[in-house]
Amino acid sequence: MSDSSPLANLDSQRDELIRQINEISDFAVLREQEPLLVGKRSLLTTLQRTLGQIAENERKEAGALLQGARRLVEDRFNERFAELEMVERAAKLEADRLDLGDVVVSAVRVPVTVGHPNLVASTQRELEDVFVGMGFSVADGPEVESDWYNFEALNIPPAHPARGMWDTFYVDLGEPETVVLRTHTSPTQIHLMEAAVKLGDPRVHAVMPGRCFRRDTPDARHLAAFHQIEGLVVDRGITFADLAGVIETFTRAYFGPTISSRLRPAFFPFTEPSAEFEITCTICQGDGCRTCSQTGWIELGGCGMLDPAVLEAVGIDGSEWSGFAFGFGIDRCAQMRHQIADMRALIENDARFLRQFS
Ligand SMILES: [Zn+2]
Repeated sequence: MSDSSPLANLDSQRDELIRQINEISDFAVLREQEPLLVGKRSLLTTLQRTLGQIAENERKEAGALLQGARRLVEDRFNERFAELEMVERAAKLEADRLDLGDVVVSAVRVPVTVGHPNLVASTQRELEDVFVGMGFSVADGPEVESDWYNFEALNIPPAHPARGMWDTFYVDLGEPETVVLRTHTSPTQIHLMEAAVKLGDPRVHAVMPGRCFRRDTPDARHLAAFHQIEGLVVDRGITFADLAGVIETFTRAYFGPTISSRLRPAFFPFTEPSAEFEITCTICQGDGCRTCSQTGWIELGGCGMLDPAVLEAVGIDGSEWSGFAFGFGIDRCAQMRHQIADMRALIENDARFLRQFS
């Protein structure tokens, strides 16, 4: 073949193409270069078109040479294509396997979120534990009560001004204003004393936790549906000193030895004498702060000796038996213990808040 032939450099051009193919190590690049290496825009295709310029007697040989070169280049291209495709597929499989691995690993690493009791429920259990440790049993009562259990038996007759102390929800059953959502847990005291009297032994040592309802506008310190725990002791020879001792023992057991209690005179229709009980401010430990209005004390609940009228209402002889009752808010207790600024956070289902107490 003459030097002027378009195929004069065919061997070196073929080798250069094969070298280029060998150099490509990325499958995507190889596919991208395919038209230039072996396709319509390739040198070999261009040379194919030049065959017409070659003298007829040389054309056949030139065609065979070109065809031979093309086959070598195409074979090498196809081999390289297969090699890189395999590498590509293996890498993809590896990546998929790693992804799968990550899923498995992350399922193990990320703690599975399981539910936990709301702070109010766990506080209630802690309070029950403290009182059970002090010899009390735990009793439950209905949330819907007749007027008699919620008010009258507790020495709050109809039209008594003391009823104004509770903004009551009424349930529309029968006579108007005869069925209520209990405004306090105190009606359970009446149920317990009635049951004890039926059994012929009026002694009661029990706490009664539960939900109560008042037509309060919710704010930082009040909820319309809230939780109280009520305590009741009926026995022979029970005195106010026993009541003060129980309150103090509870306060130290639940809030810790640096927190103590004190009683201040108050009025409740169902106890006489009555007292509000206060505990050392848990925020300033008694030094005085904004929360306790600089007094160092925070009111927690009410208590007192059972009014003889209440004992009489359930058929207990007040000359033989005496007792005391106390009650306070479970939500308030949780608020104090965990220094929660706004009580509404307890019922707002904000997982970020609730998770702090899991
Ligand atoms: Zn304080």
